[in-house]
Amino acid sequence: MPNYKLNTAIAYLKGVGPNRAILLKSELGIHTFGDLINFFPNRYIDRTQFFKINQLQNNTSEVQIIGKITTIKTVQQKRGSRLAATFTDGTGTMELVWFRGAKWIKDALKINTPYVIFGKTNFFNGLFSMPHPEMELLVDYKKSLRTAMQPIYPSTEKLTNKGISNKIVSKMIQNLFEEVQGDFTETLSASIINELHLISKKEALLNIHFPQNQELLTKAQIRLKFEELFFIQLQLIRKKLVRKSKIKGFNFEKVGDNFNNFYTNKLPFHLTNAQKRVLKEIRKDLGSNAQMNRLLQGDVGSGKTIVALLTMLIALDNGFQAALMAPTEILATQHYNSLVALLEGLNISIKLLTGSTKTKERRIIHEQLENGTLNILIGTHALIEDKVKFKNLGIAIIDEQHRFGVAQRSKMWQKNQLPPHVLVMTATPIPRTLAMSVYGDLDISVIDELPPGRKEVKTAHRYDANRLSVFKFLKEEIAKGRQVYVVYPLINESEAMDYKDLMDGYESIAREFPLPNYQISIVHGKMKPADKEYEMQRFINGDTQIMVATTVIEVGVNIPNASVMVIESAERFGLSQLHQLRGRVGRGAEQSYCILMTSFKLSADAKIRLNTMVDTSDGFKIAEVDLKLRGPGNLMGTQQSGVLNLCIADIVKDTQLLKKARAIAIDVLTKDPLLKLPENNFIRIAYQEISKNSTIWSNIS
Ligand code: ADP
Ligand code: MG
Repeated sequence: MPNYKLNTAIAYLKGVGPNRAILLKSELGIHTFGDLINFFPNRYIDRTQFFKINQLQNNTSEVQIIGKITTIKTVQQKRGSRLAATFTDGTGTMELVWFRGAKWIKDALKINTPYVIFGKTNFFNGLFSMPHPEMELLVDYKKSLRTAMQPIYPSTEKLTNKGISNKIVSKMIQNLFEEVQGDFTETLSASIINELHLISKKEALLNIHFPQNQELLTKAQIRLKFEELFFIQLQLIRKKLVRKSKIKGFNFEKVGDNFNNFYTNKLPFHLTNAQKRVLKEIRKDLGSNAQMNRLLQGDVGSGKTIVALLTMLIALDNGFQAALMAPTEILATQHYNSLVALLEGLNISIKLLTGSTKTKERRIIHEQLENGTLNILIGTHALIEDKVKFKNLGIAIIDEQHRFGVAQRSKMWQKNQLPPHVLVMTATPIPRTLAMSVYGDLDISVIDELPPGRKEVKTAHRYDANRLSVFKFLKEEIAKGRQVYVVYPLINESEAMDYKDLMDGYESIAREFPLPNYQISIVHGKMKPADKEYEMQRFINGDTQIMVATTVIEVGVNIPNASVMVIESAERFGLSQLHQLRGRVGRGAEQSYCILMTSFKLSADAKIRLNTMVDTSDGFKIAEVDLKLRGPGNLMGTQQSGVLNLCIADIVKDTQLLKKARAIAIDVLTKDPLLKLPENNFIRIAYQEISKNSTIWSNIS
């Protein structure tokens, strides 16, 4: 039986009331008893430790001190007054300060009586002070029962200002435990609890809020983290199972002429082993009677396009149409051109639909799509407009998936009675652990191998002081016939500073690489598109040797002869951006280089980013580091995912628990898909509760 008391509105809890309830809702999202129980401390303070005033250091956080107040005075200030008390413990003197409630506090304070005070200290003008200390008379402190580790709950400025201190939150939770009588129902099965040596739900909740000791606290954390991750995985995997069993897909039984003919006669290279493996995974899905919903990850240049084409050919072989959607017109056009070239001589009709497709052409496309004479449609968002109707869309492939919103992705589904197979491709590597959570209901394929013959881009970090030797190197490369990018950061295109950096840089390069021996292109966001295009074209033609640019070149530029990438103020770029920029070189047969320029002044994070770039070119390793540095919420493609609003677990730190939770969730659902077995009773009840108000159904369907 679930504990219905936990659904009670928080206002009814002793010590809360209507006003505090409003604050708890707006500031912390706590609406019910159950929400408060699941509001966990983010750290604990050892209250067995006492400080002496002469031990205080500038940087101490919260401290606990025993001492007495000797004098109290009211100090007039510009706005109102503040109360200041001199506090001493025999080793030194400090000041206790109140800015609010001075009158009331002054009456309550006792002079020359031992107190235990607790709070954060400030250091100013040679004197330590503690604003709004928590205070308790030493005699009371000794009498009261307390845990060694005091929980500290997350708070907000507003809560603090309205007097809802940590002590008060803690008290509310204590009241809650008394109200509910510690009666929290178990949510996991006995076999899981035994297998992982977990403590019970009840013990865990008690010890997360009122830890008896460090050991029990750790056990409580493990139990609650596991539970949180387990139920997320349970939902994701169940969703996947439902899709596989209930959502029928088109069965592409055969591989026919289109595929075979292309594979034998037209394929311009041998597939890498990774490409072959991924293709096999896709073929298995397509022939399984269930709808495919697969994520294909592969670094820039790993060869995803050819996999997409071969997949589309299988659809054609089974009498279906195929669509490929890209996020920008440039990329859609690029795909269209390369596929048209690859398919030359084969009897396959393929068309491009973007925002700039003319009305007349558009009408033809609509018509041919509906009567089935058009086999493959490439395009941008224009593909998912309501007017675009397919006769029989068998597969939808979405490139650079993270740029599309959830709604757009799911729209591709609604094109038929039966959903087409869906393959989403992304070049932004998502660390496995994150993929498990964010895309846990998708199947994942990875191309983890670059086509042969690619040379790794040599990457170095240089300080501005070494600029001359860098210029010398550039001259040597240019003398060999190579071309060079010099990229400036662009935090905000409208910022005058960025523009000035770029122009200063351009001038110093123009001085160092003078006409007529050197020609320089410059491209930045303030230029008209036609001018940009012109400058770009000069570089593509090889008329200029150096391209000075802001990050506009990040997308869609492919110039194999450009083999040196210089990134200025590299410390200002994020890791994924650095990785993308470096991906612009290393496209030809020559050895390529990436030079990261910085000043000597570097933050700890910036050093890690630079070292990572120098050490590895593996997109997945880089993504892992990025995840550790920035947290999951900032990574591409994760913003839309409710999966990341975790109460206690941490996707980055709790990888092992996540893997275990996933494995066990798979195991449970494989044996008991509907959670009907008596041993899974607790799980089923908790699962139903959670799914009622769950926000994690944000993925593809
Ligand atoms: P991405 O995964 O970034 O979309 P592409 O599909 O554009 O990569 O492939 C990058 C380049 O590598 C293309 O020029 C493509 O023709 C080439 N390529 C792809 N697969 C192979 C392979 N197995 N052997 C050699 N070249 C390949
Ligand atoms: Mg691509």
